[in-house]
Amino acid sequence: MDYRSKLIVKPGSHVKLADIDPGFRGHHESHKLAEPEMEAALADITSLQELLYAEKKHALLIVLQGIDAAGKDGVCWHVIRAMNPQGTSVTGFKQPTAEERTHDFLWRVHKHVPGLGQVGVFNRSHYEDVLVVRVHDLAPKHVWEKRYDAINRFESELTESGVTIIKFFLYISKEEQLGRFKQRLDDPARHWKISESDYSERELWDDYTKAYEAMLQRCSTAHAPWYVLPSNHKWFRNLAASQIILETLTDMKLKAPAPTVNIDEIREKYHKAASEEGVT
Ligand code: AMP
Ligand code: MG
Repeated sequence: MDYRSKLIVKPGSHVKLADIDPGFRGHHESHKLAEPEMEAALADITSLQELLYAEKKHALLIVLQGIDAAGKDGVCWHVIRAMNPQGTSVTGFKQPTAEERTHDFLWRVHKHVPGLGQVGVFNRSHYEDVLVVRVHDLAPKHVWEKRYDAINRFESELTESGVTIIKFFLYISKEEQLGRFKQRLDDPARHWKISESDYSERELWDDYTKAYEAMLQRCSTAHAPWYVLPSNHKWFRNLAASQIILETLTDMKLKAPAPTVNIDEIREKYHKAASEEGVT
């Protein structure tokens, strides 16, 4: 199935998360049956990322947002493991530092945007400034309200300078979140992931839903679309993300750059060296 056209938020469309099934898993019956498709997609991503790195004409920025335990770390890991680490970067955005607070909200983000030839993943992003900031009144409404347009202009500028942007909203149900919190509690190796704010943020679920809907509606643009990834099934989330990334890379029509040397001359040098050294 073409998950890219199925999961994209069409620019300007009204988004109601309640109408989307976070347990959606396409035509796939099970993780096991989806596995070969996933591995094939990852193998193709590996080849294309190598071309992106070699050609240095495009950059790819993957933005991840989602409530606590939605799987942002999981997608980072999944996507990046198919890639040569030399051509990638992952940036997590936490509460702004004292210095970051003295600048405009995009200042800390801009410097982590991947350069040509690179793939960058944002684990949280500039969208926190219309999410947590909106939900917790960390800035007055007239301030965050203007940020949607500012974000669209910023992303449009990036696109014009060669950055292709994919934005994934990882969508899980409230029940699924609680189940994942329990798994963290039950597994001492994962206790470090638990934070005090998990449950207080959870109480604000409806406010977050409104903020996510506004973000999806106002900032899914033709140049930087949002995709809603149904994420109750981790394997489906990863499969859909891989396929969308693969199709986006394919659209770039990446090509290995022409050699910088005369290959025939170099071949002669090789033959000369080989015959001198007795290599047949
Ligand atoms: P985590 O991703 O679980 O390590 O948590 C990072 C925390 O930083 C989350 O609670 C985010 O909501 C918070 N955060 C990220 N960006 C901002 C921002 N611009 N303003 C306020 N809080 C933020
Ligand atoms: Mg957290």
